[in-house]
Amino acid sequence: MAPHNDYYELLGVGRSATPEELKRAYRRLARELHPDTNPDPAATERFKEIAVAYETLSDPERRRRYDTFGPETPGGQAGFDPFAGAGLGDIFDAFFGGNGPFGGGGRTTGPSGPPRGADMELAVDLAFEEAVFGVAKEVKVRVPVPCSTCDATGAKPGTSPITCTECGGAGQVRRVRQSILGQMVTAGPCTRCGGSGQLVPDPCPSCRGDGRVTEERTYTIDVPRGVDDGTTLRLSGRGSAGPRGGPAGDLYVHLRVRPHERFERDGYDLLDELHLSMTQAALGTTVAYETLDGEEELTIAPATQTGRVFRLRHKGVPHVDGRGRGDLHVHVVVDTPDDLDDAQEDLLRQLAALRAEAVAPPEHGLLSRLRGAFK
Ligand code: ZN
Repeated sequence: MAPHNDYYELLGVGRSATPEELKRAYRRLARELHPDTNPDPAATERFKEIAVAYETLSDPERRRRYDTFGPETPGGQAGFDPFAGAGLGDIFDAFFGGNGPFGGGGRTTGPSGPPRGADMELAVDLAFEEAVFGVAKEVKVRVPVPCSTCDATGAKPGTSPITCTECGGAGQVRRVRQSILGQMVTAGPCTRCGGSGQLVPDPCPSCRGDGRVTEERTYTIDVPRGVDDGTTLRLSGRGSAGPRGGPAGDLYVHLRVRPHERFERDGYDLLDELHLSMTQAALGTTVAYETLDGEEELTIAPATQTGRVFRLRHKGVPHVDGRGRGDLHVHVVVDTPDDLDDAQEDLLRQLAALRAEAVAPPEHGLLSRLRGAFK
C-alpha cells in the first residue's frame, strides 16, 4: 500500500479549498468508505487516511504547517537529512539540528509486531584536532540487547509464545464509538500484549520474558571531520533493543569538543593571535608559525601594525559536508616591552630624541622598579 501524502488529493479538493468545502468533501468520502457501508479492506485504509487528512486540514494551524512542511511524523516534522546518499555507512546516519529524535521517519514498525526499543544517548569528549580532522572513537555503552537464551522471544527454551488472547495476534485493538458521521472506528495498541500480538506463558529465565538483557557493547563511532562542539550523531539501530524481538532504537551521540590552547573556532574559520615585538613589527622578520597542519613560515613586512590579519587560506576547519575548508586568521599584536634594562632604555630614549617624540623623563630608584614589578 503506497502511502498517500497529499491530503488535498486524498480529499479531492484544491489547495485553496475553504473549510466548508473540506468538510463537505470529507463527509461525502467518509460515508462512501466507512467500514459499515463498504466492507472492502482497501476502503477502510482510505477511510483512515482521509480521517487523518481532514483532521489535519480542518485545523488552521496544522493546515499551515502541512502546507509548509508536509505530513506530520510521530515526533515532529519530516526530517532533513543532509547526508542522504553520502555513503558514510550504516553506523553514521545523520546529523540532526532542531529535529526531534523521531525526525528521520521511515522507521515505523508497522501496525503489529513488537514495539521498537528506546533511543539512547551518550556524550563523547573530543580533542580539538579530533573534531577538526575526524576520528574513529571507541565508546562503551551498557545497552539492552536481544537475549540469546531465548533468541529474543521471551519464552523459556522449549516453550513458545502464544497468540495474544485479547487482540488475536494483531497487536492492535479496534474501538468503535458513535460520532456525527455514525460509527467511528479507531485502532490502538493492545494493552494485554503491549502491541506485540503475543503472550509468553513460560518466561525465559535469563530475561524474565522481556526478550532482552543489558550488556556492555563497544561501538566504533566514525566522527566525520569538521564537527563542532554540540554536534549530535545518530547511530541507527544502536539504541535499546525492543522487547521480544522488537527493532532497536537509535543511539544519539552528543559531541563535546575541548577548547584549543591557541585556536578559536568561528564556524569553519580558525582565529589566532601572533605576538610580535616592537622591533620585529617595525623592521620586519620571518616567523615559524604552527598551524594545525604543521609549520608555516610567515613573512612579516617592515612597519607591520597591530591588527594586521594574515589569512592562511584553507588552513581552517574542513567543511563537514566534505567540500572545502575554512581559513585561518592570524591577528598581529605588537607587544610593548615591559622589561627594559638600562642600556635598552637608553637606546629607546635616543631613538625618541632622533624622532623628536616627547617621552616621559627617566625615573630612577626603588619606586619605579617596584612599579614595574607589580604592574
Ligand atoms: Zn530470554
